[in-house]
Amino acid sequence: MLYHSTRNLDAQFDFAAVTLAGLASDGGLYIPNSWPSIPVSPAGEALRYQDLALAVLTPFVGDAIPQAVIQQWIAEAYRDFTSPLVAPLHPLEEDLYVLELFHGPTLAFKDYALQLLARAMAWLLEQRGSRLQLIVATSGDTGAAAAAAFANRPNIEMTIIYPHERIVPAQRRQMTTVAATANNLRILAVEGSFDDAQRLVKQLLLDPAVAARAPVAAVNSINWFRLMAQMVYYAAACQQLPGQQPNFVVPSGNFGNVYAGYALKQGGWPIGRLLAATNHNDALFQLWRDGRSQANQVRPSLSPAMDILIPSNFERYVAEAYGGDTAGLADTLAGYQRTGLYQLSGGAHARYRQDFTASAVSDAETLATIREIHSRYDYLLDPHSAVAMTAALRLREQLADEGGQASSVVSLACAHPAKFPDAIHQALGIPPPSHPLLESQANLPERYQVVPNDLTLVRQILLSDAG
Ligand SMILES: *Cc1c(COP(=O)(O)O)cnc(C)c1O
Repeated sequence: MLYHSTRNLDAQFDFAAVTLAGLASDGGLYIPNSWPSIPVSPAGEALRYQDLALAVLTPFVGDAIPQAVIQQWIAEAYRDFTSPLVAPLHPLEEDLYVLELFHGPTLAFKDYALQLLARAMAWLLEQRGSRLQLIVATSGDTGAAAAAAFANRPNIEMTIIYPHERIVPAQRRQMTTVAATANNLRILAVEGSFDDAQRLVKQLLLDPAVAARAPVAAVNSINWFRLMAQMVYYAAACQQLPGQQPNFVVPSGNFGNVYAGYALKQGGWPIGRLLAATNHNDALFQLWRDGRSQANQVRPSLSPAMDILIPSNFERYVAEAYGGDTAGLADTLAGYQRTGLYQLSGGAHARYRQDFTASAVSDAETLATIREIHSRYDYLLDPHSAVAMTAALRLREQLADEGGQASSVVSLACAHPAKFPDAIHQALGIPPPSHPLLESQANLPERYQVVPNDLTLVRQILLSDAG
């Protein structure tokens, strides 16, 4: 399988280049040249998550990597997950399920892709005899999952930058206690906001002096490999609902997770509707409703991992939605690069409405859903998962109104409630039970450095050899 950039249809890239670079050099995102068909196992024959992962990955990797090597990555990546199914479905009603994606080492769905990506990158670097510097900005979950996945990987040095005192203590400890015992992690707490952290990372990624030490890459959700790895749990959910065409509701920020569901559907899997659920930072919903998004400020919400104005993976879908209309696509992407806003053509907007639905959810509705699901089913949702569940309940009503054949609604749960105790406390008046993994980190030594929001100083730290 070969790949091209959303901004240049001509240049071709192989799987290794796409995996190690993350972002294309023209600023675009890598997409496969075509959607391969992904084998669906014969009815009734459910594969183990690990075997399913191999079946989903193989068409995208092609013969770039020996099968035994991919198998080894997969076996190691999911070995320590706390559910034997890796991504189990929890039934609430006969036609309503939660897909639990918090059984990895940092209790958020980002483990599912990063655990695998870290092994793939380390293997590719060893083969090439090269090294890589990874620089990551995080508002919490990504940094924690990246630290757990990349700690002590040979030939990789990772710097994680987060906004000082603006993430929850449990998330900080997930990074800093790992860094205390790893020789390749540097955690910087910048005195500023998440936007400041992200701006520093963008500047460092483009800095020739930093790149002179070793090639530099990002592992945020625009990396194609992460999306490919995320396709697997959609397949796992379909397998647990044989003979159905389940609808998926996905708590969305950068449009990476829901796009992975779309990619599996393009590969021939029986998926019904795909719904992108947002909080009040609702660019994805505006685009769906109006074909354009409006200039706005990020407003903090109870679901901080979704406080995103510019859904960076949407560019991947846009590149497809224009079909052969290359002039229209170039026009829309130029406008997007200038303003950070999309203005879709009529055709592309219609296609978005056909391939996806979208829904926006307020903080008040999020809290009400946490309460409702807790009292009715004795099941605890984290605030991100509650955004999705709010939209899932709406979709379920809509499907019932439309009559038609009943098909299940699957709502993705992307973080464990113990990671967001304040929101749970706000909803129920009591904090959620703690999680042993988080408790075990509470008294471990931490290693991180508080730094001013100053590019020159942060750059000096990266250029000095002391980790
Ligand atoms: C990252 C994250 C999201 C957003 O996912 P995208 O792929 O950016 O759409 C939602 N919920 C949680 C808990 C997350 O960590």
